[in-house]
Amino acid sequence: MPPAIILEYTLMKSLHFLISLFVLFFFTLFSAVAQDREWVPEDTEFYTPVPPVVEAVGGFMEPPSDAFVLFDGTDFSNWLPTRTPQVEWTIEDGAMTVTPRTGNIFTRDSFGSIQLYLEWRTPEVIDGDGQGRGNSGVFLQRRYEVQVLDSYQNETYVNGMAASVYKQYVPLANAARPPGEWQNYNIIFEAPEFDETGELVTPAYITVFWNGVLVQNRVEVEGPTRYIGLPEYVAHGEDGIMLQDHGDLVSFRNIWIRKLDESPVWE
Ligand code: MG
Repeated sequence: MPPAIILEYTLMKSLHFLISLFVLFFFTLFSAVAQDREWVPEDTEFYTPVPPVVEAVGGFMEPPSDAFVLFDGTDFSNWLPTRTPQVEWTIEDGAMTVTPRTGNIFTRDSFGSIQLYLEWRTPEVIDGDGQGRGNSGVFLQRRYEVQVLDSYQNETYVNGMAASVYKQYVPLANAARPPGEWQNYNIIFEAPEFDETGELVTPAYITVFWNGVLVQNRVEVEGPTRYIGLPEYVAHGEDGIMLQDHGDLVSFRNIWIRKLDESPVWE
């Protein structure tokens, strides 16, 4: 082989090598940046610790005299739709039921810190599994979700099971009753506080009793519920309580609150 051709061949090889290095470098850099920025839902889903199963049928309550009743089984006068001109959910036998794909509904009134009591029921006929089985949710101030799900012998990520502060806190126990049975939540919600510049002063706290069992013990909420990525607070004022249409025939009844801002404070 003439020396000129050998030289050209060597140069070509070196150039090829350099280009490969260059491509590899940028590909690695790009992947790193992409990994850093792009979250997938699974990044925030955890399967342990699995809470112990407890059998519980307690916690059922009638509204006390100072309660503000949000739903007494008769009409949607205290509720607003999010996707349709009117609330399209149905009412039967004193309970409201999600009409799938008509959208979430939320209270006409806005609230700060509250005690919220409600009863809920997932369909007796099991349809779907994991997150697709009796999924709904209670959003405090339309942002912070306490999950509603059929968690009776139904595996899913534990920070997304019933009574989880969705994708933030696993309940301390699985107090699920079988599908088709009425269950109850007694929730204490302490609203977050922000200063005039929008900075967070006090985070939200959530306490949940599920069928009478303490399952969230005043957990510090990390921010609004996110399906993908990490929660981050954005300043807001009082807001409504929202019930989720997640496409499943979940029912609610006997919904009332007590305003904690109006409770006496003993110093
Ligand atoms: Mg939900």
